[in-house]
Amino acid sequence: MSKLVPLEDVHAALRARAKCIDETETVSLTNALNRICAEDIASRIDVPPDDNSAMDGYALALTPDEKTADRVFPVSDRIVAGSVGSPLAAGKAARIFTGAGIPPGANTVVKQEDTSQESDGIRINVDVATGENIRPRGQDIKAGSRIMECGTRIAPQHLGLLASVGRAEVETYRPLRVAIIATGSELIQPPTELRPGQIYNSNSYLLAGLIHRLGMEPVQSINIGDDPQATRDALVSAAGAADCVVTSGGVSVGDEDYVKTAVEEVGHLDLWRIAIRPGKPVAFGSIGETPFFGLPGNPVSCFVTFLIVARPYLIAMQGCSEPVSATYHARADFDYPSASVCQFIRVRVDSSETEPTAVVFPNQSSGVLSSLTWANALAEIDADQAVRKGDVLKIHPL
Ligand code: AMP
Ligand code: MG
Repeated sequence: MSKLVPLEDVHAALRARAKCIDETETVSLTNALNRICAEDIASRIDVPPDDNSAMDGYALALTPDEKTADRVFPVSDRIVAGSVGSPLAAGKAARIFTGAGIPPGANTVVKQEDTSQESDGIRINVDVATGENIRPRGQDIKAGSRIMECGTRIAPQHLGLLASVGRAEVETYRPLRVAIIATGSELIQPPTELRPGQIYNSNSYLLAGLIHRLGMEPVQSINIGDDPQATRDALVSAAGAADCVVTSGGVSVGDEDYVKTAVEEVGHLDLWRIAIRPGKPVAFGSIGETPFFGLPGNPVSCFVTFLIVARPYLIAMQGCSEPVSATYHARADFDYPSASVCQFIRVRVDSSETEPTAVVFPNQSSGVLSSLTWANALAEIDADQAVRKGDVLKIHPL
């Protein structure tokens, strides 16, 4: 039996192999959410484009060190947001509203709460510092400056930022097409009535969701029996239609596990069997130019290996530069035995206390899919490391 490959070696090998797709698409901002930006973007304009008022109040044209407390200023103008005022003379005030442009000559805004109305103008009750309450042109973004980098996953705040500099479209990598093949003669699709010996195919839905959530397109989802020819045919067809092929099941050492052999026949196998639990029998290879991940059939193993092994590779292929996994720490509220391989166990972390605390799901069998909807995180435990209550754990949020 081949040696188990340590997870770090797997990650390093996959990192070296992952090639970013080079096809891009220009999409409107309304369609850009969760896409990966394929250009470095600089702003053509200053934001804000002009000095404007940060408050509802009165614009003033003050000379250096001019005192304002208890003085009355005649009001010569009224400037609402979206309009441009006329030049303001020293000793005069202009009524101004938040977001309205500062008129030529003005250099300060006093907020209306610091004023009182008089018959001949506005009384200012305080001494105002010159420059107060003005948002200067370019305070947010300077024309020519970089606002976004190639490889950024576009979040709602990026959409806002792009719109703020006048962009309506953005160049993005086209979504990766990921084919899903579920193997197993016992599998049928819901809602068909189960016959003896059958189970529902849950992994195809699980994988489609995981792929979708990464902003990629699940394609060619098919379900095949444990049969060598059907396995070869499905792999070749999927490889022709997708950027990456992901299979579930049939990759272990049983007589009815045909995926590994089929890949060796129609493509090339690079890696098999990784030192993690759950999910040891993971395979990686290629069919023609198309990379291939063979994930185990047990639903929890399939889920965990997708996240820990396949996901970083797919993200790199998609051109995304985001950190692969944003982990954090929590204190274990349980004991857990060591294993000779790295373990990812299902936990629920309570972060409402000053220190996040993790409790463990009692049944860590890799067939217990309901544990994954109970859990909100995986705790990573190094090989040969037992957990003692109070230990600090590395947590991968789900
Ligand atoms: P395998 O990796 O093919 O040996 O499958 C391991 C276990 O996972 C078996 O109990 C299978 O019945 C189950 N299994 C395999 N594929 C799926 C699937 N698509 N959905 C749900 N369970 C599956
Ligand atoms: Mg099977």
